[in-house]
Amino acid sequence: MTLPETMKCLVKAKPEKGLWLEERAVPKIEPDEVLIKIERTAICGTDMHIYKWDGWAEENVPVGLIVGHEYSGYVADIGSGVRRVNIGQKVTGEGHVVGNRSRNARSGRFHLDPDTKGIGVNLPGAFAQYLALPEFNVIPLSDNLPLEIGAILDPLGNAVHTALSFDLVGEDILITGAGPIGIMAAAVACKAGGRRVVLTDINNWRLDFAKKVAPDAIFVNTMEKNLSGVMSDIGMNEGFDVGLEMSGAEPAFNQMLDSMIMGGNVAILGLPSKPFPVDLAKIVGKALTLRGIYGRQMYDTWYKMLAMLDSGLDMSPMITHRFAARDYQKAFDLMETGKTGKVILDWNEI
Ligand SMILES: [Zn+2]
Repeated sequence: MTLPETMKCLVKAKPEKGLWLEERAVPKIEPDEVLIKIERTAICGTDMHIYKWDGWAEENVPVGLIVGHEYSGYVADIGSGVRRVNIGQKVTGEGHVVGNRSRNARSGRFHLDPDTKGIGVNLPGAFAQYLALPEFNVIPLSDNLPLEIGAILDPLGNAVHTALSFDLVGEDILITGAGPIGIMAAAVACKAGGRRVVLTDINNWRLDFAKKVAPDAIFVNTMEKNLSGVMSDIGMNEGFDVGLEMSGAEPAFNQMLDSMIMGGNVAILGLPSKPFPVDLAKIVGKALTLRGIYGRQMYDTWYKMLAMLDSGLDMSPMITHRFAARDYQKAFDLMETGKTGKVILDWNEI
């Protein structure tokens, strides 16, 4: 197959709100890299920060970067040293490109490598017709996994990594925050053997949508209902065994501390937009374990996630909208309303 010289891509071309469709050279691959022809991409909250150009984006993202990190496609070319991946294979990829110098990387804890760079954040991204990626990061997908599900495995990986950071079997689980990752975590927690899985938010649209993805969970709008009342209604009199904090919101975090059992475990993925006070006496008095979560494990989370999808975890209801890539502006406008699950762009239509 002959590759084209140039490709279309979405670029953060100016330090202001928006993304711009540009023509760039198709990336040249190194001996250890794979060239992926992008088929589908999904829009992430991170992309929305970059699109809106908020303080975080201004500090972290270089102007001129091709953005996007949630994608699936087919291998279009491989470097001379690539052995594990073949041309034509259906793939996605881990978006964190790690180094090999730090203690964590040398110890195999790649997800904790401080030299990590992010596809579509620091490195050229996947909102493009082609993406170059180290072979190490390429994840082969089975033929029967739909391309659009392949494009949402990055956030599903966050959900799986957070949810499985503590034993869930037979446990009562509180998830605060019904964003896409919170909703996916609820589905994962149900599938992974959680007993009562309670998902809270303050947005009824998000909670109604979550019912379609995680029908076995229990949904609580904490502005309308008292969580401790719900707990006694469903027969809980001691507290949640496991908490998954997905909101980054101070009231939700405090409510979680108040609702945990003595000795409970809390995994925290939600990133607060500014610091807030925490009553340490509650953490000490309840003997809680708190764990911060970043990214996903390379590559244990990927194996677990693909196995769960293979054994019936259904993520198709997460995808609410599909657009031609050339209509990306409509997709970003819709994302801004907040009333979406995952929004997919089709790169065959550019
Ligand atoms: Zn993402």
